[in-house]
Formats: sequence, C-alpha cells, structure tokens
Amino acid sequence: MERTLAIIKPDAVRRGFVGDIIKRIDASGLKLRALRLMHLTRAQAEAFYEVHKERPFYKSLCDYMSSGPVVIAVLEGERAIPRWRELMGATDPKKADAGTLRKDFGIDVEQNAVHGSDAPETAAREVAFFFSSLDIVS
Ligand code: UDP
Ligand code: MG
Repeated sequence: MERTLAIIKPDAVRRGFVGDIIKRIDASGLKLRALRLMHLTRAQAEAFYEVHKERPFYKSLCDYMSSGPVVIAVLEGERAIPRWRELMGATDPKKADAGTLRKDFGIDVEQNAVHGSDAPETAAREVAFFFSSLDIVS
C-alpha cells in the first residue's frame, strides 16, 4: 500500500470540477484517506513548491496556487503514486493523453487542474506538509 498527495488546483475548483475529479478518483479504485479545502497563503505555496524555487515559473506558480481555494487529499492504494500520475496526465494539458484529468480539465501548462506527488519521498513530505497522522483515516 502506498499513499500520495493530490491537489485539485485553483483553476479546477474555480471552474466547478471538484465533483468530477473526485468521481474519477473513486472510479479508479484509489481510496480517499484525508480531504480538506484550503486557500493557501503565498508563503504556504512558496514552501510547498520550494523544490522549484530556482525555476523560471516559480513566482507565477506560487501566485496561481494561492489565487483561490484548493482541495487537498491523501490517496491510498497499491502503486498509488504512479496510478495517480497516470490519471493526471502530462504536465502540459496539450500533451496529456485523452481521458486524463489534465487533458479534460486543465487550461495550460501552469493551470493544469491537479497536482500529484512524484516519488515516495516527496509523497511523504507533501502528505506531512498538509496533514497530521490524526487527519488520515486508516
Ligand atoms: N509549471 C509551470 N510551467 C512549466 C512547468 C510547470 O507553470 O513549464 C507548473 C505546473 O502547474 C506544474 C507545477 O509547476 O504542475 C510543478 O511542475 P512539475 O514539473 O513538478 O510538474 P508536475 O509534477 O505537476 O507534472
Ligand atoms: Mg511535480
């Protein structure tokens, strides 16, 4: 069993896709283990994406991620990390496969609807960034 952090990003929340995206999670067999709605401060967005702080898109990414509420979830299942990345699709919605969340709900390479952890170490860090052990259903 593996856990990963999922975020429904501000563009997708704003455009009313929370229900659709949670429905895809349920249909995939991944289990919701924690769920919260948050409007990140800019400082929280900066800390969450610290790994990208040298990238040219960092400032804009932090503005975007703090621009409105997000839905944050812990997903659990066998191979949850790669399975959630597969459901999400490529970073750029234009390059994402048909039927993926980013293809169906993303706007552009920045406003791409969803986030997912990319490895076990980042998943552990990202889950702990938003949730305490008491928040996670076992
Ligand atoms: N991003 C961007 N421009 C880029 C690449 C990424 O604005 O050229 C944003 C986008 O929202 C992406 C996030 O930064 O989801 C993190 O980038 P990463 O390379 O980790 O992509 P991901 O893991 O989300 O597919
Ligand atoms: Mg990433």
